[in-house]
Amino acid sequence: CGQCLVNCPFGAIEQMSFVDEVEEKLRDPEWTVVAIIAPAVRVALAEEFGSPSGTLTVGRMHNAFKKIGFKIYENNFAADQTIMEEAYEFIAKVRYWVLGERGPELEKFAHHPLPHFTSCCPAWIRYAELYYAKVLPHISGAKSPQQMAGASAKTWAALDVWNVDPRKVYTVGIMPCTGKIFEASRPEFKSAWQWLKENGYLPEDTPPFPDVDAVLTTRDAATLLKRFGVNPLKLSEKEENIEITEIYSGGATIFGTSGGVTEAALRTAYYVLSGKEPPAWDFFAVRGYTTGIREAVIPIPLKALGGKEFHLKICVVNGAINHLDKVLKQVVAGNCPYHFIEVMNCPGGCINGGGQPVNPMGTSWIDPLLPLPLKA
Ligand code: SF4
Repeated sequence: CGQCLVNCPFGAIEQMSFVDEVEEKLRDPEWTVVAIIAPAVRVALAEEFGSPSGTLTVGRMHNAFKKIGFKIYENNFAADQTIMEEAYEFIAKVRYWVLGERGPELEKFAHHPLPHFTSCCPAWIRYAELYYAKVLPHISGAKSPQQMAGASAKTWAALDVWNVDPRKVYTVGIMPCTGKIFEASRPEFKSAWQWLKENGYLPEDTPPFPDVDAVLTTRDAATLLKRFGVNPLKLSEKEENIEITEIYSGGATIFGTSGGVTEAALRTAYYVLSGKEPPAWDFFAVRGYTTGIREAVIPIPLKALGGKEFHLKICVVNGAINHLDKVLKQVVAGNCPYHFIEVMNCPGGCINGGGQPVNPMGTSWIDPLLPLPLKA
């Protein structure tokens, strides 16, 4: 989860930092530098400027990053894209595996059974790759919001929104997460380069470039803002010239906390599978921090079966120590009771990621091994 990076009592582990490189790109007018800002960052960034977490508004945060030269491609805008892909993938699996439907568009799901796992936490993905290869076909094929944002920023946004050369777009994930540094460096994430070349936007001999060039943690982002002498808490709340890449839904914002990805996917899945809006858009049963796994059963009246109820069984795992192995062993043994499983490596989800401010007495940090509230 990256907490070892900030809590190592011996200073034996150092976090890779892109602060110098990003500063250099921001000061070079040749580059369009793009901030991809994760939802958990806005909650915690204020702590780095001496205010309680949650006091920074989105308008002020956007204004701060724009003031030092960034364009903004909201991670939440990409999270909306992620959830559409992920929810439709899950719906296809329900159609294939629960309703027994067949058809060319569903055939590939014969190799991707339920339960469906979320895919946006790179630490969870690495864990599965190293220790539970058998569960890989269950994991969503949707990229994380950071990686979707990077690829879309260098293709669609560069060409259609900003009208700039994609080779001069430098994308920066601003994340609560040290694992996202590793994710951005994975060799398979060069899809913008590949797409641009295949579609004639780049000369054949253009060397490969990554979808996301650099990742700053919340702490790094604060360091960068301070280098430019900008305190977001002192800026105006009102944002001028809001671009399409800054607009997003509330479903995207809740990605930052445990259960949020599930809730966002449920909203779409419920609507598509039932053909109507759910009784409430809030699915409280899957939300929030817990020291164990969170289980929920959501009844969905299936349009395809004339309104007959399907009981969607959900499991939310936050913090890899919280029974993840037990759930994974059930999946491998073929006796897992769930249809949808969210896994977030950090306790409470990204809000407590390893790149967040180090503030054990603050409000945004939860230690899963200690009783709350923490006392001095
Ligand atoms: Fe990163 Fe932790 Fe969020 Fe996973 S849960 S994406 S490791 S911050």
